[in-house]
Amino acid sequence: MLKKNVHKTICSYCGVGCGILVEKDAKGVISVEGDPDYPVNKGMLCSKGKNLNYVAQDLSDRILYPEMRWSRNHPMQRVSWDTAIDRAAAVFKSIIEKHGPDSVGFYVSGQCLTEEYYLVNKLTKGFIGTNNIDTNSRLCMSSAVVGYKKTVGEDAVPISYDDIELSDCFLIAGANPAWCHPILFRRIEMHKEKNPNVKIIVVDPRKTQTCASADLHLQILPGTDVILFNAIARWLIEKKKIDKSFIKKHTANFDACKESAFQLSIRQAADLCGISADDIRKAAQYIGNAKAFISMWTMGLNQSVIGVSKNVSLMNLSLLTGQIGKPGAGPFSLTGQPNAMGGREVGGMASLLAAHRDLGNPHHRKEIEEFWGGKPIKSEPGLTATEMFDALDSGKLKAIWVICTNPIVSMPNAHKVEKALEKASFVVVQDISHNSETTKYADLVLPAAGWLEKDGTMTNSERRISYLPKVIDAPGEALPDAEILWKFAQKMGFTGFGYNNVSEVYDEHCLLTKGTEIDISGLSHQRLIKEGSFQWPVPHNTHKGTPRLFSDRRFFTNDHKSHFNAPHKIYNQSEKTSPEFPLILTTGRVRDQWHTRTKTGKVKRLLTHIPEPYLEINKVDAYLRQLKDGDVAIIKSIRGQVQVKVKVNFDIRERVVFLPMHWGKVLNNDFGRANNITNDLVDPVSKEPDFKYCAVEVVKY
Ligand code: SF4
Repeated sequence: MLKKNVHKTICSYCGVGCGILVEKDAKGVISVEGDPDYPVNKGMLCSKGKNLNYVAQDLSDRILYPEMRWSRNHPMQRVSWDTAIDRAAAVFKSIIEKHGPDSVGFYVSGQCLTEEYYLVNKLTKGFIGTNNIDTNSRLCMSSAVVGYKKTVGEDAVPISYDDIELSDCFLIAGANPAWCHPILFRRIEMHKEKNPNVKIIVVDPRKTQTCASADLHLQILPGTDVILFNAIARWLIEKKKIDKSFIKKHTANFDACKESAFQLSIRQAADLCGISADDIRKAAQYIGNAKAFISMWTMGLNQSVIGVSKNVSLMNLSLLTGQIGKPGAGPFSLTGQPNAMGGREVGGMASLLAAHRDLGNPHHRKEIEEFWGGKPIKSEPGLTATEMFDALDSGKLKAIWVICTNPIVSMPNAHKVEKALEKASFVVVQDISHNSETTKYADLVLPAAGWLEKDGTMTNSERRISYLPKVIDAPGEALPDAEILWKFAQKMGFTGFGYNNVSEVYDEHCLLTKGTEIDISGLSHQRLIKEGSFQWPVPHNTHKGTPRLFSDRRFFTNDHKSHFNAPHKIYNQSEKTSPEFPLILTTGRVRDQWHTRTKTGKVKRLLTHIPEPYLEINKVDAYLRQLKDGDVAIIKSIRGQVQVKVKVNFDIRERVVFLPMHWGKVLNNDFGRANNITNDLVDPVSKEPDFKYCAVEVVKY
């Protein structure tokens, strides 16, 4: 039984989604600890989660009231909510009238609650009449979404965290969960400590903290993942370490996978990957001999110009070995943000429709149109994240509404994004913090309520839906994002936005899922509060949730089989290195910072780990450039430059360098912003940017 002043909630950072107990004392001071009864983390929290109370109580950077400027020549001034919403509606109406609905767009976040995501999607696709609603999940999970759809028929993570303790082989590719999904990785470590025979294979051009627990580290050249996974597939097929019965009964397109896998010999693949053929064989042997095999991946595969090919070639390994839909087995994408999956459930991206329906399917569109009672929904996908900023630059898009994300720091080729926002006719930024550099480009700033200041739901990486209660009042005049959105929709004259609370929004979303593969019509806020979290689907109100999908071997494809896919591209299609830019830059996260540091950057304790941006560079490359550990270097690409200190080691491959992605303006300049130099090439299908590969040179400052 919880004390009256203790509330159960969920961490607002990564997709692991740890349970937190929040205690508010008599003076209103907040403290946090891991929830021992929550199935995800069983009381554990990482450094970021443990310090959330500081973030929640430090109001120094908070946006407290709406601010607006009448033109770019006028200063920002405080205005009332009525004036702010009137102005937003008037400008949007006038732009839409003049240039059509596709001249406006919304760019939102995987940190939004599901109800907020649902509303912005309904507002945009159903009432404004454009599909220009995309999210920063485009930068994170969209390649995995396409991979799942191609393989199992829907964007559906098959397994549960509890499968970790049932597995005896993990392939962790393009991920550093020891730093980026720490509590989940702790569960893997504890499992291995108890069961030393458990094998961990790590695929990464860097020797990260995750490698400390690995039995095998495949330190491949960036961009060669598909070649590696195909070589493993080849070995499994040649050595007959495949599940023939599963393949025959429950899969389609095996020949396409085989043909792709046999294009290169294992020796040729090893040479291209820059590792030994024996190591490829060893990895394949671990997988082939495993009783239960899990593949885990994140941005190293997703953030790539061939991200979809990387995803499907990895998923092929689970199908070849029949390691899906059974205890301890399956492909398992690690979600970066806390509610990226919730956002996908409501169709909160330019290419998706509510409740996993297809935008291109006329019946699906009709169902949603009738349910919402709004405008006809367009069949063509709207502008994706990078396309939105290109369209602002070209003048095709006139107005953008940015919610809970900081594209000035997080988008690739950031100078281009700055230029695009300068050109926009109207920019709305809805956020909690002035620390977001994007607020500087806003014509209208709307103060949003943050974590603990509003209620709603989120879905973590294992399809677990949890309720987050309101515990404290938002400061100043800040409002919950959902309320801001429905006030705007009402002002635009749209019917169907007369909500009294977010619980009503959630009920609408749940009803829309009825009869679909993600049916959660058995859920409501009341049930989540009373009974705790559930993994979807939850199709009726006594259903207990679904920890594992596909146990019945019935997949979500039309023929109910899982589908092998030949990767569209085997060879990397990234920007080419050259004598002028001979090194490959890859970007990523550090342990104690989150995204663009608007929250974690405020916590002194979190700065003790890594206080400033840096460049990781191999000793050989550093020596050739006369760089010593701690020297300042200039890192240049064709798009711009960055100046940071170097960390010299042998942990990163030669000819590869690494920059953390978190830092924006440092010392009032943008010298630490990694995205000054990244490129905005995207995967042609998922439209996810190629953050893990661009051509750079490093010189001593
Ligand atoms: Fe929060 Fe992720 Fe850390 Fe858990 S692992 S406490 S969800 S940041």
